Amino acid sequence: MGKITGFMEYERIEEGYKPVPERVKHYKEFVVGLDQEQAKIQGARCMDCGTPFCNNGCPVNNVIPDFNDLVYRQDWVSAIEVLHSTNNFPEFTGRICPAPCEAACVLNINNDPIGIKSIEHAIIDRAWEEGWVVPRPARHKTGRKVAVVGAGPAGMAAAQQLARAGHDVTLFEKNDRVGGLLRYGIPDFKMEKSHIDRRVEQMKAEGVVFRTGVVVGAAKDPLGKGSKVTNLAKETVTPEQLKKEFDAVLLTGGAEQSRDLPAPGRELDGIHFAMEFLPQQNRVNAGDKVKGQLSASGKHVIVIGGGDTGSDCVGTSNRHGAASVTQFELMPMPPEQENKPLVWPYWPYKLRTSSSHEEGCEREFAISTKEFIGEKGKVTGLKTVQVEFKDGRFVEVPDTEKIYKADLVLLAMGFVSPVAPVLDAFGIEKDARGNAKATVDFTGGYATNVEKVFAAGDMRRGQSLVVWAIREGRQAARAVDEFLMGFSDLPR
Ligand SMILES: Cc1cc2nc3c(=O)[nH]c(=O)nc-3n(C[C@H](O)[C@H](O)[C@H](O)COP(=O)(O)OP(=O)(O)OC[C@H]3O[C@@H](n4cnc5c(N)ncnc54)[C@H](O)[C@@H]3O)c2cc1C
Ligand code: SF4
Repeated sequence: MGKITGFMEYERIEEGYKPVPERVKHYKEFVVGLDQEQAKIQGARCMDCGTPFCNNGCPVNNVIPDFNDLVYRQDWVSAIEVLHSTNNFPEFTGRICPAPCEAACVLNINNDPIGIKSIEHAIIDRAWEEGWVVPRPARHKTGRKVAVVGAGPAGMAAAQQLARAGHDVTLFEKNDRVGGLLRYGIPDFKMEKSHIDRRVEQMKAEGVVFRTGVVVGAAKDPLGKGSKVTNLAKETVTPEQLKKEFDAVLLTGGAEQSRDLPAPGRELDGIHFAMEFLPQQNRVNAGDKVKGQLSASGKHVIVIGGGDTGSDCVGTSNRHGAASVTQFELMPMPPEQENKPLVWPYWPYKLRTSSSHEEGCEREFAISTKEFIGEKGKVTGLKTVQVEFKDGRFVEVPDTEKIYKADLVLLAMGFVSPVAPVLDAFGIEKDARGNAKATVDFTGGYATNVEKVFAAGDMRRGQSLVVWAIREGRQAARAVDEFLMGFSDLPR
């Protein structure tokens, strides 16, 4: 344990942000992490609880009390070893995880939780700076070949674990670059993409073969006819080819099918899915030319959907120079402060104001869009109504109809399921929500109904979090290793 009386002596220290007027001018990260002394003080607050709820609240089960203590003692080399023992990519989660561990921290019952995420961030950034993050190739090769389909955080974590277990791993990705939604979804100002590139280099040195621009699926229309998910892949590989060439296949293709809003006027120009808008900006940031890039510049933007994706649309629209940005949320405004004794150690339902909201945005709650209004085929506004939740459904509040001006509408209402054709092409059973059906049992977990084909990440559990994708990738890697070798030394 860090300092026995630390939790009584020291306050939580929040990471800082660069000022709004400065940061909205660019797409670079703007979080100012803790320095070593601040991280030490944060570590000193940890009580090394008999039952560390933080560790259970963390989807990858990070060994939090141990790295808190190590940072307090300034043993950073051991701290990164502990952190890497449960998490392949702490630089991703240290930046963009909502930190369910902090909600579960025992100190959160009657005080501010330990800044666990900021400590994680400090450890991994220092480790990269000091050159402590190096390739760890397997000592022995098994001669078994594994195909991983989809290079988001789930696929990357699985590929790294499987390569370290000695298998020959090929990671297939339909996009031109690796990273999944981390690359073409999450804006650079939340996580710069050089963090992914560094890991790709590390994984290549560990033997992972990356095949980008290759879509796996049926030879004809691998993503389905008329799919909204753009297929920029230059090559198609069929399930038959994969099953013939590889000893096991792991599907980690994510859940890319965006939820639509089929209200009257939906066909008007100027109404787009968030995932048409956000990836374009990430491409431009990467130096690509995007013909006819969607722009929010000088426009009145309405973002429909109050979650992370919506918030990312707000931040990006402000950087484009939008005339105004308004975000709609169907649910009523949550309480500013949760009832801690009631909800701890679970993830609390409370009002969350992101750094993008702070940059400028009107937020409307309990609001539903009845109609998109337009002129000459272009959206000019939205007709809305206030709603309340009654008897298990939303009902309109009489006399609350209102017209909002809008030149650009971004639909950010979540994702319904994976893009089905790849699952259909493999003949994989789906659950009620259209995700790949596979359990997470210790034995036989992540296996689908198709011999030697496994599934993990958002493709199995539905749209979730990066930290869950990493967990599923790691666990699925163990399941595949066990399937191939009869046992596995990979951690659960
Ligand atoms: C805008 C946005 C913001 C988000 N913000 C956060 C956040 O702040 N914090 C957080 O924790 N989570 C966030 N998330 C959620 C998080 O990004 C996802 O839960 C996570 O990336 C899922 O990882 P995955 O590896 O399962 O799938 P994905 O990241 O979706 O990766 C799947 C990959 O598979 C590829 N693929 C799919 N089908 C095929 C095929 N047939 N052949 C070849 N390749 C294929 C795709 O191109 C993609 O690259 C956000 C999501 C979005 C959209
Ligand atoms: S629950 Fe909080 S105080 Fe307790 S061990 Fe975990 S981080 Fe430390």
